[in-house]
Amino acid sequence: MSDRLHVDVSEVENVSYVALAGVIDEDNALSAITERLTRPFALIKSADVERINSCGVRDWVNWLGELQQKQIEVFLIECSPAMMTQVNLINNFTGHGKILSFYAPYFCPPPCESDKMLLVRMEDALRTQPFRAPVCRCDECDQLLEFDDLESSYFGFLPAVQPPRVPPEVEQAWRKVSSGDAKPLRSRSSMIKPALATVGSVSASPLSGGGSSASIPSSRELKSLLSEVSFTHTPFDPEASAPAPFPNKLLYVVVGLLSLAILLLTYVVFRGG
Ligand SMILES: [Zn+2]
Repeated sequence: MSDRLHVDVSEVENVSYVALAGVIDEDNALSAITERLTRPFALIKSADVERINSCGVRDWVNWLGELQQKQIEVFLIECSPAMMTQVNLINNFTGHGKILSFYAPYFCPPPCESDKMLLVRMEDALRTQPFRAPVCRCDECDQLLEFDDLESSYFGFLPAVQPPRVPPEVEQAWRKVSSGDAKPLRSRSSMIKPALATVGSVSASPLSGGGSSASIPSSRELKSLLSEVSFTHTPFDPEASAPAPFPNKLLYVVVGLLSLAILLLTYVVFRGG
């Protein structure tokens, strides 16, 4: 999947259905699709949103504000782990929108090592407090999956959530667009790989603390990363596009050494002459 936000808008009767995929950063086209949302309800799916940076967060919140001004009622389905991290970090991240379902991240222990995510319906999550990650097995090897985050922070937003009132037409559209994905457990390998490639610049705010998710590499991912790639991790860099500092430093050292060598050579040549 490319490093851009893909937006797919369609109409399911009285509901505008928006499927987002990719990265929400400063190059998003969220504002541009506002006028295409002509129905009183919007159902927004973000299962394939891999990452969102600080500019993306700002634009996302502004966009939800635009929809509210147009009196469009927003419902969020299949929120990806990257989106849920922001839900936990930022108070008004969902604006007036209501989350109907979201993904919880899991991983399968060795030798399988698959990354999975399990779809959780909000009404199930609100039924048991405090909510714990459901026990589930890998659909590839049948091992017990381990939750890939801190339960207390990943589900930390739940106590503040009111049970959403879902209009029948939204319920119907939701059922219609979900019918293709019968299995609640799906692989998130496509979501992890791009995050690994840019691990040094993932928008990991210092506030995130233990509350990491797929977008912010877990300690397990970091360990494997650090053993594989040179050290480029800058955890508190807020800009996703910031270059890794290490190669620059190396360049300075090389240029410095070269200049010193030339100076020395000049000195030797002039002394000799
Ligand atoms: Zn497995």
